[in-house]
Amino acid sequence: MPDTVSMLSRPLVLVVEDEAALATMLRYNLEKQGFRVEEAADGQEALNRVSETQPDIVLLDWMLPALSGIEVCRQLRRRSATRDLPVIMVTARTEDQDTVRGLNTGADDYITKPFSVDALIARMRALLRRANAVPAKARLAFHDITMDLAAHRVQRNDRPIHLGPTEFRLLEFFLQHPRRVFTREELLDAVWGRDIHVEPRTVDVHIRRLRKAINGPNELDVVRTVRAAGYALDTEAR
Ligand code: CA
Repeated sequence: MPDTVSMLSRPLVLVVEDEAALATMLRYNLEKQGFRVEEAADGQEALNRVSETQPDIVLLDWMLPALSGIEVCRQLRRRSATRDLPVIMVTARTEDQDTVRGLNTGADDYITKPFSVDALIARMRALLRRANAVPAKARLAFHDITMDLAAHRVQRNDRPIHLGPTEFRLLEFFLQHPRRVFTREELLDAVWGRDIHVEPRTVDVHIRRLRKAINGPNELDVVRTVRAAGYALDTEAR
């Protein structure tokens, strides 16, 4: 059975990269940040993988064997199914950046090697948000809690709430599925990533931090603990 819960919150990225070490590093870091990852090592494989796996975003190396990143991008833009697929082109510093931009390959963004993974992920998230820019997703709300995804801000009763990155993703996931109970394993899958080896009790630690951050002294605890089951975002604590 496909895990629809994880699919909702964990975008699939196709990493097209012929340098195996770089591909491995990207996979590790992207999975750690909650992305699902598919890989392709050349341009032709990239086109095949796009058809097979229907990624949410493509990270496309410019210099690839057989079929260049530019040509892959052009072909993606020609097909109606992939015309609007977000593509980030990865270029080497030696390539003339003006030429890269001037070629009008249809890439949505560019990043130059060597790049920081944080910068890359910020661009990917921005691009994914633009691609899915529907009002319902830009702002999530439950009870007196609001999350502005574009500004990365959380408020409760107009009071700003400061969350660590994991607590933020945890709350984002809960806000997408209010009142639904999730097991620790489901939360690990959806928020941490399937291939990350984390103890289920780690979830408890972050739930505790989330509660501490969002529940003010006289405020209702909106995180419901369901014994032997897991957690839910709910105003009816039992
Ligand atoms: Ca390359």
